[in-house]
Amino acid sequence: MRGIGLGGTTTLATGNAVRKDEDLKEIGINLDAEFEKLYSMIPVTTEHKKNWNSSMNKMFDTFREMGLNPEVMPKALKTEACINCSHCAIGCPTNAKWDVREIVENAVSKGANLVTDCKVTRLETEDNRVKKVHAKIKNKSVSYSADLIVLCAGGLGTPVILNNSGIECKDSLFVDPLICVAGISPGADQDKQMLMPFLSRHDGFILSPYIDYFSFFFDRKWRVPSSDLACIMIKLADEERGYLDGEKVHKVLTKKDKEKFDEAIELCHEILRNMGIPREDHLVGLTAAGHPAGMLPLTENEKDTLHSPLLPDNLYVADATILPKTMGFPPMLTIMALAMKISEKIMNL
Ligand SMILES: Cc1cc2nc3c(=O)[nH]c(=O)nc-3n(C[C@H](O)[C@H](O)[C@H](O)COP(=O)(O)OP(=O)(O)OC[C@H]3O[C@@H](n4cnc5c(N)ncnc54)[C@H](O)[C@@H]3O)c2cc1C
Repeated sequence: MRGIGLGGTTTLATGNAVRKDEDLKEIGINLDAEFEKLYSMIPVTTEHKKNWNSSMNKMFDTFREMGLNPEVMPKALKTEACINCSHCAIGCPTNAKWDVREIVENAVSKGANLVTDCKVTRLETEDNRVKKVHAKIKNKSVSYSADLIVLCAGGLGTPVILNNSGIECKDSLFVDPLICVAGISPGADQDKQMLMPFLSRHDGFILSPYIDYFSFFFDRKWRVPSSDLACIMIKLADEERGYLDGEKVHKVLTKKDKEKFDEAIELCHEILRNMGIPREDHLVGLTAAGHPAGMLPLTENEKDTLHSPLLPDNLYVADATILPKTMGFPPMLTIMALAMKISEKIMNL
């Protein structure tokens, strides 16, 4: 899953605003200053537990009693405007949830020229510099020139543009696949509750309450009233194996990924049983993914330049494509911190 349009996938995000930059730190990229700046720009809060309903509190307590260390999820959210509709991932009706359009609006108000409905197809290079960016607006071909170009079409968009331009990415796509496990529990009312209000960290995955509308709409077994579902999402740090053929995604879960999912699914069954929901009332959802990334991963060699030697001199990539390692964790804040560092680098060129 990804969002195509202004604001990108942050418009579908559930507002989880968490820092996860250990792998970047390990290769020598320090984002302390950028995170600090982001926290002053974005309303990140953990003050939303007061909005949870009783079954969410019960799930949190069950996690705690089982020693699973649940943590209230930091949210990019104006809590007072949240109406607990559970629609974060399909468009927040009150704009309580922050998304990146706020930053775009700010840039436009300061003079940035925004062109929408415009699909970049390829870059034209000469002497290791991009001369033109070719694109389509509806069916009309257009091209743009600039001294410096920053590509940020996301983990599935950027590699396609690079590939069309003769720059090959790596077969190291990771996607943070997810599976939800639900228990049928009349009156759970998770559909009247913000998504992912807390998380529990494990080796290779996180767990977080999330009503799985994907399975609800596309898997017949899930045809029970949405208000009767107590649902837990498993988000896995998958192995970095996958590639694109044109725009077609090739991603298969490895043996290790499947074993991790099995372990996590068993744990979810145990949590739901401890909540009093018998095993025969549990549902395991469809596999999905929403964090495509990693096909031009940054390495230690690029810690100072933040620029892959595979790229023309005046082209930077500033999106999930350059994340160095699988995350199994909400990545948007980390991507933004990295993009901010890249923009500072560019301004000082
Ligand atoms: C349902 C869902 C919920 C999520 N919830 C969270 C969350 O709560 N917290 C979190 O941290 N992460 C979350 N994520 C993931 C997060 O939103 C993404 O990882 C992040 O937005 C990726 O940023 P990006 O800049 O790499 O790409 P994107 O945000 O996908 O932006 C790419 C942009 O490029 C544009 N584009 C693509 N191709 C082209 C082209 N050829 N020409 C021109 N433009 C193009 C797209 O329209 C889009 O605007 C969620 C993802 C999903 C699917």
